[in-house]
Amino acid sequence: MAIRIQEILKQRKQDTKVTVKGWIRTRRDTGAFSFLEVNDGSCLSNLQIVADRELTNYDREITKLSAGCSVVIEGDLQKSPAKGQDVELHADYVQVVGWADPETYPLQKKRHSLEFLRSISHLRPRTNVLGAVTRVRSQLSFSIHRFFQERGFAQIHTPIITTSDCEGAGEMFQVSATGEKKETPFFGSQAGLTVSGQLQAEVYAQALGQVYTFGPTFRAENSNTSRHLAEFWMIEPEMAFCDLNSNIELATDLLKFVLNDVLETCSEDLDLFNKFIEKGLIGKLRSVVEDEFVHVSYSAAVEELSAVAEPFEYPVQWGIDLQSEHERYLTEEIYKCPVIVTDYPAAIKPFYMRVNDDGKTVAAMDILVPGIGEIVGGSQREERFDVLLQRMTDAGIDSKEYEWYLDLRRYGTVPHSGFGLGFERLVQFVTGMSNIREVIPFPRTPGYAPC
Ligand code: ATP
Ligand code: MN
Repeated sequence: MAIRIQEILKQRKQDTKVTVKGWIRTRRDTGAFSFLEVNDGSCLSNLQIVADRELTNYDREITKLSAGCSVVIEGDLQKSPAKGQDVELHADYVQVVGWADPETYPLQKKRHSLEFLRSISHLRPRTNVLGAVTRVRSQLSFSIHRFFQERGFAQIHTPIITTSDCEGAGEMFQVSATGEKKETPFFGSQAGLTVSGQLQAEVYAQALGQVYTFGPTFRAENSNTSRHLAEFWMIEPEMAFCDLNSNIELATDLLKFVLNDVLETCSEDLDLFNKFIEKGLIGKLRSVVEDEFVHVSYSAAVEELSAVAEPFEYPVQWGIDLQSEHERYLTEEIYKCPVIVTDYPAAIKPFYMRVNDDGKTVAAMDILVPGIGEIVGGSQREERFDVLLQRMTDAGIDSKEYEWYLDLRRYGTVPHSGFGLGFERLVQFVTGMSNIREVIPFPRTPGYAPC
């Protein structure tokens, strides 16, 4: 029976015949037999294989196995006398599927820097850390879908190619056909890769009530930071008949749900991060699940930050957009927990955010977490036709291109809200990886897009 190592370690069955398929991590010879550590990617742990010198290909092949070789092994699971493992596999048969020249195979037993691993992006998932990141990322994705599906949200696949740039923030990638002429663009007007599925999600929220998107998002931001990618994944729920408070509640519930889920299902991988990547990580995740988030208005946050003695690179005053240093100071130094900041100045926020009664602020909310800063950005949307049109005019947006969006306010408009959760920032928060490039299989940043 072919079986994955994760199942073997879970069941701890002894005296059963199994077939295991994976890659050699190490080999150690004792004279009478060899120990092979095999990993198949199903979990962090390797399975120890005991290969007896009586095996027919022992001298010819088994003693030549090295890190990276792929093997299929059939044998008996037996109780292991060694510490730290319940079972080991006594091989009846070791088939070498693919050799890996030890002279050139780049992954040696020593620990490699994450930067070095990025330079061999086709091999880095074979390392403990990147394998663990990949499993946690997959589990988080699954949890997010489960959260929304269990609450009756419909998933909407919003377009990747779009002709509206969402906030008029000129940070889009252009899309054109080869040889396309400027006067006759393929899509009739200039197109780009989406920076957000929100506006399209709003369309469906005002028909299906509760929807979400989970898709690739592109931003041509020329900022080489540890929290920005040119291609990333975003989760964007949108709810009709929903105000800012229910929006905050949904975002809080979502974060707590997925963190709780991953604490239960990925404990082995999280232990690795807790030990080698961020000390205290598991405690941090538990407290986010259990404790209340702090809720503070933008104005109050600005007051708190103005009272801080140490100077910031960007001085704080009412009206500025909070910079990463301010966000992190709030969540790491002042409150030491996730912080929800609401009611930002209208002037620094996009046209679609609902104007508050004071006329100066909008019903926006960002969630800031320690180590990252902004992880969620959301708002209640402007549902009043006249106010929306005025905001678009003020922002210099050609309302003719947004007639479809304005129609939603003409016909059966409703208060509605939503947010965007950056998936890689969530994976960063859960794994403690300080650079966002480490949490996506093939990162894309300015000047960098191999494989
Ligand atoms: P920031 O101020 O950190 O650049 P933003 O305000 O531009 O973020 P939003 O437009 O509100 O971001 O997008 C929603 C979420 O998407 C953010 O809260 C963040 O988690 C994530 N996000 C935004 N830009 C990026 C990026 N370039 N790479 C990865 N995630 C991103
Ligand atoms: Mn934002």
